[in-house]
Amino acid sequence: MSLLDDLRAAVGDGHLLVDADVRATYETDWTGHVSAPAAAVVRPGSTDEVAAVVAACRAAGAPIVPQGGNTGLVRGSVPAQAGEVVLSLSRLVDVGDVDRATGQIEVGAGVTLAALGAAARAAGFDAALDLASRDSATVGGAVACDAGGARALRHGTARARVAGLEAVLGDGTVVRRLSGLLKDNAGLNLPALLVGSEGTLGIVTRVRWRLVPALPSRVTAFVPVDSIAAAADLLGELRANVPSLEAVDFLLPDALRLACEHYGVEAPVRDAAIHLIVEAAAVADPTDELAGVLPDDAAVADDTAGRARLWRLREGQAEALEAAGESHKLDVGVPLPRLTEYLERLPAIIEAAAPGSRPILFGHLGDGNVHVNVLDVAPDSDLDEAVLRLTAELGGTISAEHGVGALKARWLGLVRGADEIAAMRAVKAALDPDAILNPGVMLAPPGAPAP
Ligand SMILES: Cc1cc2nc3c(=O)[nH]c(=O)nc-3n(C[C@H](O)[C@H](O)[C@H](O)COP(=O)(O)OP(=O)(O)OC[C@H]3O[C@@H](n4cnc5c(N)ncnc54)[C@H](O)[C@@H]3O)c2cc1C
Repeated sequence: MSLLDDLRAAVGDGHLLVDADVRATYETDWTGHVSAPAAAVVRPGSTDEVAAVVAACRAAGAPIVPQGGNTGLVRGSVPAQAGEVVLSLSRLVDVGDVDRATGQIEVGAGVTLAALGAAARAAGFDAALDLASRDSATVGGAVACDAGGARALRHGTARARVAGLEAVLGDGTVVRRLSGLLKDNAGLNLPALLVGSEGTLGIVTRVRWRLVPALPSRVTAFVPVDSIAAAADLLGELRANVPSLEAVDFLLPDALRLACEHYGVEAPVRDAAIHLIVEAAAVADPTDELAGVLPDDAAVADDTAGRARLWRLREGQAEALEAAGESHKLDVGVPLPRLTEYLERLPAIIEAAAPGSRPILFGHLGDGNVHVNVLDVAPDSDLDEAVLRLTAELGGTISAEHGVGALKARWLGLVRGADEIAAMRAVKAALDPDAILNPGVMLAPPGAPAP
């Protein structure tokens, strides 16, 4: 039997997509990057069907690209080479009941973050992880990328939310640890390896998610600050004095201007060197806690519409950039003590590598997480290399929350030692012996030129 026959037998004719028109949306990622054509798209409806797809692809030596909501920004969710099989998790959308005693919920990997959040809220809980891509991004994708978002400051990244998971490894084995036990140190925690593995070790099929209590009172402030160093000081004051602190994001002036122009609105506060979006959430109104620390010229909103208006200037950056043209997107992290130096040196580094380009800088200040977006970059520029080298020089990471993907794999050696990368390759060889899961993602092909 051919690969397509085996895949048809695994998922049924209706869930094997081979027509170019139908495949197209699965071959194009959120950034508009059109990948190599897939051999097929399969949409398994159960863990057993995922395992059957892996077996079929393994027998045929066909690489598999796991795909959730396809909102990833590092070319990990679409084929790198023609002939790969896209495995969509879009049918694994079962949402279990909230287990109130443990504060956990079990969901299929294809459930969107928005649906997860709604299920949590309906039971009086909160999913704690939230991204602007929530309507499409899936739980499986968030776990695979160890996604973060603004609220990671308080609740951690996806890793902190995973109480257990089920996955099909590259050799077709199903590993399952869904008991939800907080204390369970019997043996290695295999599921933990899957978090942040970007679909290179296994395909996450089911996740047991740790919820937090819903906090009814939420306040958002938009804060002008006159220097990056002063913003870092303010962050320290917020951490020390605002126990209800939930998020501290930032926008540099070009980013604020871009969003205001895109949405046709005035900036909510005066011009400044940097603007912060600060959010606090608690059982009782946290306004007084915030007021004790924030300057008087901050704009504050405690109603849903007002808060959404302020957040739109930050969360809408991706949309505003999209409308402004093609942008280079790099998601990096820098230790907070070096962040001021980083943000001060970055514009000159960008200008030298891509003359005449337009940096749009924003991110999650509390996590030292900077989203470096650059418009009007000439195709032959070595911008990525220059930005990632500066990041590594200051002790940062080339990927804070979006993942390494295929886009940044060749630079992993800037921030991970050769021995560490060799250990990663050994784990990959053990769990995916035929290297069929997402080849070229995170780990560059052996022998690929170092930057
Ligand atoms: C507007 C916008 C805002 C964003 N904001 C944030 C943000 O604040 N923080 C943040 O961290 N990210 C953010 N992202 C990036 C993206 O949404 C996240 O990385 C998200 O977790 C990806 O989920 P997904 O389901 O779309 O995964 P996909 O894009 O489909 O896949 C991403 C990677 O995970 C792998 N994968 C997907 N599902 C599985 C699975 N079930 N098992 C194994 N591997 C799998 C894929 O192979 C790929 O390597 C944003 C993206 C957009 C477009």
